[in-house]
Amino acid sequence: MRATGATCPETGMGTMSRYSAFAIAREAFRDHTGWRRAWGNPEPKRRYDVVIVGAGGHGLATAYYLGKNHGVRNVAIIEKGWLGGGNTGRNTTIIRSNYLQDPSAAIYEKARSLYEGLSQDLNYNVMFSPRGVIMLAQTEHEVRGYKRTAQANALQGVKTEFIGPERVKELCPIIELKGPRYPVLGGLWQARGGTARHDAVAWGYARKCSEMGMDVIQQCEVTGVRSKDGRVVGVSTTKGEIDCDKLGIVVAGHSGVLAEMAGFRLPIESVALQALVSEPIKPCMDVVVMANTVHGYMSQSDKGEMVIGGGTDGFNNYTQRGSFHHIEETVRALVETFPMISRLKMLRQWGGIVDMTGDRSPILSKTPLEGCFINCGWGTGGFKAIPGSGWGMAELMATGASPLTQAFGLERFREGRFIDESVAAGVAH
Ligand SMILES: Cc1cc2nc3c(=O)[nH]c(=O)nc-3n(C[C@H](O)[C@H](O)[C@H](O)COP(=O)(O)OP(=O)(O)OC[C@H]3O[C@@H](n4cnc5c(N)ncnc54)[C@H](O)[C@@H]3O)c2cc1C
Repeated sequence: MRATGATCPETGMGTMSRYSAFAIAREAFRDHTGWRRAWGNPEPKRRYDVVIVGAGGHGLATAYYLGKNHGVRNVAIIEKGWLGGGNTGRNTTIIRSNYLQDPSAAIYEKARSLYEGLSQDLNYNVMFSPRGVIMLAQTEHEVRGYKRTAQANALQGVKTEFIGPERVKELCPIIELKGPRYPVLGGLWQARGGTARHDAVAWGYARKCSEMGMDVIQQCEVTGVRSKDGRVVGVSTTKGEIDCDKLGIVVAGHSGVLAEMAGFRLPIESVALQALVSEPIKPCMDVVVMANTVHGYMSQSDKGEMVIGGGTDGFNNYTQRGSFHHIEETVRALVETFPMISRLKMLRQWGGIVDMTGDRSPILSKTPLEGCFINCGWGTGGFKAIPGSGWGMAELMATGASPLTQAFGLERFREGRFIDESVAAGVAH
């Protein structure tokens, strides 16, 4: 990926890397020889003010807002694989903010509203598509639950509404309202929810971090956390020792592993969550539909594939792979609500390791190790939260507190102040 402009002798990066129609036209006239790499490939320095472990969306967004909002730019983002190669590049890209509890609505709505202008902010097309999200109510219990959520959202300033079955059919004509087991009784509709291109979110943030002079270091695994007198002093990596004043652990399914290196335990379970896509077909569905009772959700990608997700594996594991029984289970569940998918060939399946907390809410927190912060527990639904999470986490790391992260501290598990989102987040994304 390349951007245009002059090259900075120190970083090898373009110093004027604005993408624009003018830049494309100019490059067309010079055989595209002026594009520069979109992000650098630096060797780690011996010391940084801040080290972020994990170049998924949350780690990169944290670094970006540290630089943009707080002027902290001597930052390294260290990634054992490749940019966005964890859950950020494996998810089904659903964005919504219709959660029940106030702290959740605040951070998810902050994220959703940042997504609205993210392409302009990052000067990178993240393909945010606010096509609308319906969460189907297929039992009386769900009808009551979603009506309650719609009321809560109204108080929180999040625009959602409970709609009847006829409106569901109008929005999504391929749906079968009178399924044999679970007829559609209505749905929770968020018109400004939708999808975005997941890799582009990681790439857009990485490019901006690199442009601010931060080091995005790929293929570099953190193997230890070093501390002195109860305070973090650096990390050991496969590319050598790196010192830092502050450390942010943002590694999703590997949070327990990193926490152990830093000397504390987390109330987190790591499990695989799987998804699959069908062969591409003509446009037939321009909203996102989630059917939480039967454990499935579906949208159509720009390429025409039906993007389908299901529930998590029923056991802890670190296997980033799909399995046949999961395809069968998910498709069997969805087929009564979407009979047309019985005629589709499935093309690909995959898995990602998600980090689940008991109350299905994230952890954005200081830790028992001074100077070390953790951002994890987004479980099956953290893609939608990336900009809001990065914003709050950066504020927490730079200033020691953030209104967005206040309720999500680790101490809530000790004090019993759970933020119960199991209905909003149990299977849904
Ligand atoms: C199949 C599937 C579908 C999903 N669907 C949705 C959805 O529709 N909507 C939604 O909102 N969310 C969804 N999610 C959840 C969402 O993808 C995650 O919550 C989110 O991407 C987490 O981002 P992250 O940056 O925290 O983690 P990741 O993107 O996983 O990034 C963590 C990074 O840390 C790196 N790392 C780990 N250990 C080390 C180490 N020791 N040293 C250096 N680097 C390390 C990993 O390689 C990884 O790149 C889905 C997840 C999956 C798996």
